[in-house]
This record gives sequence, structure tokens and C-alpha cells, in this order.
Amino acid sequence: MKKTCQKCGKEAVIFISHQGRWLCEKHFKTYFFQKLEKTIKHYKLLSKKDKIFLAVSGGKDSMSLWEALFHIGYNPIGYYIKLGLGPHEEDIIETISQFAEERGLTFRIFDFPKTYGKTVPEIAYKKNRRVCSVCGLVKRYHFNYLATKEGFDVVVTGHNLDDEITSIAIDNIRWEIKELGRKDGPLMEEWHDKFAKRAKPFALFTDEEIKLFADTMGIEYYERTCPFHGEHSTRLDLKRVFGEMDRLHPGFKVQYYKNFLKVKHVFEPYLEELPLKECKVCEMPTRIGICAFCRLIDKTKEV
Ligand SMILES: [Zn+2]
Ligand SMILES: [Zn+2]
Repeated sequence: MKKTCQKCGKEAVIFISHQGRWLCEKHFKTYFFQKLEKTIKHYKLLSKKDKIFLAVSGGKDSMSLWEALFHIGYNPIGYYIKLGLGPHEEDIIETISQFAEERGLTFRIFDFPKTYGKTVPEIAYKKNRRVCSVCGLVKRYHFNYLATKEGFDVVVTGHNLDDEITSIAIDNIRWEIKELGRKDGPLMEEWHDKFAKRAKPFALFTDEEIKLFADTMGIEYYERTCPFHGEHSTRLDLKRVFGEMDRLHPGFKVQYYKNFLKVKHVFEPYLEELPLKECKVCEMPTRIGICAFCRLIDKTKEV
């Protein structure tokens, strides 16, 4: 039997599990924009006056976030950190450039290999580290570095509900209490003048909702996964488990996330963090003498 939209009776395209209702394409879009505005307001993520740094990867989440924010009256600047990952990176940049050009949006690239004379995989091999962990460190550092240096008010990323609950669940299963204490919710306030405020406006949106949004809005995005990033099987299995639980108990995923946000403060005292200092080389905040990024690229004061 065909499912019908609970608003207008037309053919439904999606089941919104936490609301227990089916929606057609038109009413799904309305729901999507309203939910985004509500999330931004509820968690005080953004204001219309903010200069917004949008970390764009070319994938469906960041591209959809760009489109959706633009649609409801925000004007983020898309920033891509070029890492030197190989020819597929040119395709990603091409996809993003085209997207931005068609909509008249501002798109910037930070060229890591050009700036430091080495690609991220080269550094990873030299340091005997996984490319993904180096890539994560380089990106996090530069989002913050560029945002504070260029006067942005906030950094937004496309993390969605499925990403968030999976990474919480992994630390939950392993009882990594410190890691649970380190987790941030949809908003991470600026708590040091060299730490930009961070926001995840899609934190309550499922993978399925964002995928459908991208498809109905005709957003071209880069679909292939990174050749260096085989998604860990535990993560994939957990995503399936969450999907099954959400099917059996509609709203399970959102509840799991919101309940975590309520108890998160319980884990924070276990962090035992050292006081914040300025990195001796780059002057960005760190808890040790020289920050993780400067140690990674062997940057010293003389350079
Ligand atoms: Zn409808
Ligand atoms: Zn540093």
C-alpha cells in the first residue's frame, strides 16, 4: 500500500520517525526548513548578522547545509581545506565551485600543500600515523585558525544526527568517560578569544532526511568516499543497529542524542584538563608548550 502525506494526502516520500508521520516532498521541505530554524533558535547557534565560516567537504551534509542556510536567510562563506589527497580532490573542488557559482555564493580554498610544502598523506607516512587522524587534526586546526584570523563569528559543520550518536555510542560502549566529557552538543561556545564558536545546525537531522533534501533540491555533491577513509566496521554496524532500533521504536535516535545532552555534564569533571596556554610557535591555544599541529609539521620558532 502506498503511504500518503499526513498533511495533504499526496504520495509520501519519507517517514519522520520522531513525529510518527509520513510527508510528501512539498511538506517535507517545509518541515526541513522549519526544523532548521527551530534548531538554530533553540540552541542559539547563529544570528543573521554573523559572519559564518562553513566547513565544506563537497559531501551531501555540508553542501545541503550551505543550501539550507542560504535559503532561510543566512549567508555562510564556504571554506575548503585542500589537503593534497590526490586527483579526486580536484573533482571535489570542481563540484563545490560549480555549486557556489550557480548560486552566487562565496567559496574559499585554503591550500595546505602550497602553504607548508607537504601534502597530508606525506606527513602521515613520515610520522607513521593514519592519514585520517592527521587529516582530522589539520582540518580542526585550520577551521579555528582561519576563522579567528579572518574575523568569523562562528564555524559551522555538517555533522548530522547519525554521525553524532554513533560517535557517542562508541565511547559509551567502551566507557571512555573522558571522551564522553569532551563531546560537544550542537553548540560549542567561544571560551577563549582564539577558539571560534562552533555550531552543528544539522545535529538533529538524520542521514536520510539530509539525503532526501539534497535530492529534492537538486544539489550535486561528491559521493565517493575518501580513498584513505575506509569507515570503521564498528561505526557502520552501529549505524545499522540505530537504524533498526529507530524502526522498531520511532524517535529512538533523537531520544538517545537528547538524553546524552542532558547527562553530558556528568562526564566533564573526568577530563582533568591542564590550563590553557598559547602555543610557543603559532600562539594558538594549547594545553602543552607547543600545539599538536606545530609538532606535527615540526614547525619551530625559527621558521
Ligand atoms: Zn503533503
Ligand atoms: Zn602551534
